[in-house]
Amino acid sequence: MPVFDLVVVGCGGGPNESNLSSYLLKAHNALWSDGALALEAGSGYGAISRILADSPTLFAPCDPRSPAEVLSWVRSFVITHGHLDHINGLVLSAGSLRGPPRQVFAAQQTLKDIETVFSDRLWPNLGTWDKEDKTAALLYSPLQLDSTYRPVAAHVSVRALPLNHGHMRCTNAPYDSTAFFVRHDPSAREFLFFGDVQPDRLSREPRTCAVWAAAAPKLPHTLDTIFIECSYPLGRPDAHLYGHLSPTHLAQELAALAREVVAVRRSPAGSPAKKPRLHSTASVPALNGELRDALTGVRVFIIHCKEDLTGEFERPMHTVIAGQVQKLVDDLRLGATIVAAEQGMHISKCQ
Ligand SMILES: [Zn+2]
Ligand SMILES: [Zn+2]
Repeated sequence: MPVFDLVVVGCGGGPNESNLSSYLLKAHNALWSDGALALEAGSGYGAISRILADSPTLFAPCDPRSPAEVLSWVRSFVITHGHLDHINGLVLSAGSLRGPPRQVFAAQQTLKDIETVFSDRLWPNLGTWDKEDKTAALLYSPLQLDSTYRPVAAHVSVRALPLNHGHMRCTNAPYDSTAFFVRHDPSAREFLFFGDVQPDRLSREPRTCAVWAAAAPKLPHTLDTIFIECSYPLGRPDAHLYGHLSPTHLAQELAALAREVVAVRRSPAGSPAKKPRLHSTASVPALNGELRDALTGVRVFIIHCKEDLTGEFERPMHTVIAGQVQKLVDDLRLGATIVAAEQGMHISKCQ
């Protein structure tokens, strides 16, 4: 049985502002008009307008008369980090929201970053930290980065873990992003959603390995769907990844997940490995077949592919990149199915 419905409002990595990271989610047995969760909010009104024109029945049995009606269903937001391509729609729509404040769930630092936009200079101050303030459009709701699942919508909870997303240009200080385990509470089924993320192999303090260690015991029965970025195609030099993944690095990350899965299945009670194996992605070539089919039954949706601005590729970038990742994953015999996320896609069997 499907437990979630997810609509891809936007899944590009820029610079096309009409297709930026933005996903609407609800429990499968509820109506969209009963309340939706916005997972990221890069594109908004304009993208919804376009996908409604292409697929008028996308939100069936609800029959929205306008993009504004779809936006009115959003009761809360979950944001991975404060970069504009993940919050643009949230900012632009905030002044039009009616009714009680919408909760914006994110790590404390991400909320502080978002607050700088609502400064009354760049944009009116429409947010509040005060739960008693009913006049604001948005209520900043910090998520702790730990092992606890916290409710973010009807029947939906998230667990947030920190990710590395490169460095800030001026200070060279690390810039953080977030991964979310998104759980359908009644069934306890989950999917895993990554914000922008750099390869662990290029990180001074690898963090994605902890996400894989937390995910491994759940695969594939409790968790069979992963959304993860792959911003660039093959051949992008490491020095020009700017805190993002390329197909080679994503395949290595998935091999690291496969290694965790094998370790869990080998452990006596199927218990999670005590500690994630840091830097484990370094030894990918030494597979010896032990990782074979470790990720069978797992779907990996490729998101956040950057546009091809040079006209080098004949096909859209997300299909080029997904094909490259599938080939590498097949070479490693991991067994995972790689899918290019598409704007307007309705994913109904999202465990
Ligand atoms: Zn980013
Ligand atoms: Zn981004």
